[in-house]
Amino acid sequence: MLRITELKLPLDHSESQLQSAIIERLGIAAEALKSYTIFRRGYDARKRDSIALIYTLDVELANESAVLSRFQADPHVAQTPDTRYQHVAEAPKGLTMRPVVIGFGPCGLFAGLLLAEMGFRPIILERGKPVRERTKDTFGLWRRREFNPESNVQFGEGGAGTFSDGKLHTQIKDPHHYGRKVLTEFVKAGAPPEILYVSKPHIGTFRLVSMIEEMRGTIEALGGEIRFESRVEDVLIEDGAVRGVTLANGETIDTQHVVIAVGHSARDTFKMLYERGVYVEAKPFSIGFRIEHPQSLIDRCRFGKYAGHPLLGAADYKLVHHCKNGRSVYSFCMCPGGTVVAATSEPGHVVTNGMSQYSRNERNANSGIVVGITPDDYPGHPLAGIDLQRQLEKKAFELGGGTYDAPGQRVGDFLAGRASTQWGSVTPSYTPGVHLCDLSTALPAYAIEAFREALPAFDKKIPGFAMADAVLTGVETRTSSPVRIKRNEHYQSINTRGLFPAGEGAGYAGGIMSAAIDGIEVAEAVALSIVGISKK
Ligand code: FAD
Repeated sequence: MLRITELKLPLDHSESQLQSAIIERLGIAAEALKSYTIFRRGYDARKRDSIALIYTLDVELANESAVLSRFQADPHVAQTPDTRYQHVAEAPKGLTMRPVVIGFGPCGLFAGLLLAEMGFRPIILERGKPVRERTKDTFGLWRRREFNPESNVQFGEGGAGTFSDGKLHTQIKDPHHYGRKVLTEFVKAGAPPEILYVSKPHIGTFRLVSMIEEMRGTIEALGGEIRFESRVEDVLIEDGAVRGVTLANGETIDTQHVVIAVGHSARDTFKMLYERGVYVEAKPFSIGFRIEHPQSLIDRCRFGKYAGHPLLGAADYKLVHHCKNGRSVYSFCMCPGGTVVAATSEPGHVVTNGMSQYSRNERNANSGIVVGITPDDYPGHPLAGIDLQRQLEKKAFELGGGTYDAPGQRVGDFLAGRASTQWGSVTPSYTPGVHLCDLSTALPAYAIEAFREALPAFDKKIPGFAMADAVLTGVETRTSSPVRIKRNEHYQSINTRGLFPAGEGAGYAGGIMSAAIDGIEVAEAVALSIVGISKK
């Protein structure tokens, strides 16, 4: 099989035009093309009036080696790489001490799945509830202002990304094609097959829920065990090595291998690890607001006359601005045709994030508009970033009126420095509600200054971005983990043997895909460590 990359065709082309383009590109006779599959399909919308589709194709030819030798110097025609996943180890017979995975988000899900596939029968401990019950609790906050600190947008089966846009692209390097394994497993569990080939795959919330249940079933069928409402409260460490974990109900589980995949909101767990002497350090993250515009404005700007084209879907954007005060402002977790959601995991706090359904057909586009901050902004203690997050989230709760409403403001008023008193043409989507106010005290002065500079700059890239009626809601604080649980080249904590920090909470991933890939990497390290080989 040969792989052709960067094959460009107009947006509205037929199947036969694609076939002809392959034949022409390879300079072969039509009969020599036996079959082809689309490995990836992206689009180039830099010229709005002539949007092109860009293909990566796997082609089967009658005379592959002859064609390959003609294209030796062409980087866009090569042998198709083998992207099938191969397990690195097999559990020894009679394995008595099972590995423990803490957290059942994308990272813990894939760590658990891989360990189960290799026969290690992992025990997965998740503080939250199974996803259907969790959905009810999450809606409890969104619809009735009833908040459950152990079952919410951040905690429960599926982890933080369950109620999300389900974007699956990542910019991390993936030389071993682990991303392919993730997508393949998602499709097996019921994700739309197109996620295997579109360049920016997404799943949306409803499908994620049933997929996660399906994957739980697979892990259990392979001998894994998933325990819900099982918060890990302590890690037992002796002579610098893990010996077990203790649950909130007092039960202790003996183990020498613990994957700590707790996500970026497990503040109590970070504190416990720090107090037990596990090396934890502060790391940069970002803070800001959610912004909402009419999706039609973004579609028109990005796709012009092609807005609404079924192959393009709802348009997204990615923006960055480097400010005069040295800060960088960027768009984060953009959700086309979605809604802004309440994403706190602590009572008396307000946190925003975004989600959508697979159809992405809600009226508004939303994204986080955030500014990068570093430990220099919260010096002195490895957990000081968490203190800052808490302070901002509490302030947002107060500014929102103390009822879990988010504080919000029109962009025109924010830029003019006056409180908003009414909404305009854009209606905020956050539930349970948005309280009109002046957001200038919601974040540190450097952040407000940076946003006041960045929004007009973004308007030059997407005309209308700084429209007076666009909506800001706050605060966005859970952009990534404020800490890193540092690990060594064997994926183990630098000072605690047998503890494998993983995923977003440990500071080694950002987003569903990279967390899942990290779960695979760490599962391999655990498996190899159990069979007596170090993963490097
Ligand atoms: P998490 O998903 O956070 O999972 C950690 C799990 O550990 C949780 O289920 C938690 O309950 C559990 N846990 C924590 N502490 C303990 C403990 N002590 N004992 C037992 N269990 C514990 N990313 C994208 O790539 N695309 C998107 O579209 C997207 N949208 C998002 C929308 C929202 C609303 C949110 C909140 C996040 C979104 N993200 C998105 C980010 C993405 O969800 C995270 O990057 C990803 O889930 C991180 O995976 P993880 O497994 O490392 O951690």
